[in-house]
Amino acid sequence: MDPVRLLTYHAGNCAICDTVLERGDSVQSVHMHVLGPAGTVTLRCWLCGDCRPTRDGIGATSGILADRILRWYRADPSLWPTLHLSANG
Ligand SMILES: [Zn+2]
Repeated sequence: MDPVRLLTYHAGNCAICDTVLERGDSVQSVHMHVLGPAGTVTLRCWLCGDCRPTRDGIGATSGILADRILRWYRADPSLWPTLHLSANG
């Protein structure tokens, strides 16, 4: 089985509002695991302080983030060789 791959979405920017993140900012890192028969890919991103979800907004924020990151991931086949195998198998 392939090792876990780690991919970064918009390194250095907030995954929701695209603000440039500075060292020392209060950010929230997010790891999303995508499974496939040939391996697992971990998609990583960060949220700025303004986009970190509140208790009431966590569902909406999670939905926006999952939709955005998965759309990005699915749109670029060069990012998903382990899942490419599953599409043919
Ligand atoms: Zn943000």
